[in-house]
Amino acid sequence: MKSHFQYLRYVLRHKWFVLVECLKMGLIWRGLVHDLSKFTPAEWFPYVRYFYGDGGTRESKGNYNIDEAPQDFEMAWNHHQKMNDHHWQWWVRFGDDGTVKVLPMSPQARAEMLCDWRGAGRALGQPDTLAWYTTNKHKMNLHPETRTWIEFKLFYAPPTHPEEMLKLIEAGLKGDTYA
Ligand SMILES: [Zn+2]
Repeated sequence: MKSHFQYLRYVLRHKWFVLVECLKMGLIWRGLVHDLSKFTPAEWFPYVRYFYGDGGTRESKGNYNIDEAPQDFEMAWNHHQKMNDHHWQWWVRFGDDGTVKVLPMSPQARAEMLCDWRGAGRALGQPDTLAWYTTNKHKMNLHPETRTWIEFKLFYAPPTHPEEMLKLIEAGLKGDTYA
C-alpha cells in the first residue's frame, strides 16, 4: 500500500510542476488534464511496481532506462505514449509496410511537451531543460518543424515572466492562445 501512496505523491507533484509551466504558456486545460492516463489501471499498477515496488529499478535521481525495464512497464509506457499527444512518439506513424513516418506535432501538443520537460526537471531538482535536451535530443524522432520550434524555445525564449503569464492566462481563458 505504501508504494501506491509514494507513487500518488510522485504523480501529483509532477502534475503540479507541469501545471505551473503550462499556465506560463497559457495552456490551462492541458495543464489540468496532463498525464491523467497515469491513473488508469493499465499505467498505474506497472508504474507503482517499477517506481516504488520491491526491487524497483529506478535510480535515485528519478531517471530510468526503458530498455532495462520489465515488460509490464514497457506496456504501460507504450499505453501512455499512445494516449497522450504531448509525447513525440504519439506523432510517429508506422505505415502498413513497416516504414516510419514522423508527423509535425500540433502547436498545443509540442507546447505541452516542453512544459512536461520543464516541469519534470524542476520536480526532480534538474531545472536546466536545455542541458537535458542537449543530452537527450539524439534519442528523439522529431519532425524538423517540431525540432525547430522546440530549439527556438529552448535557446531563445526562456520561460515567461509573471506579468506576461497573467496576460497569457487571460488570453487562454478567452481562446486558444499558447506562447
Ligand atoms: Zn506524459
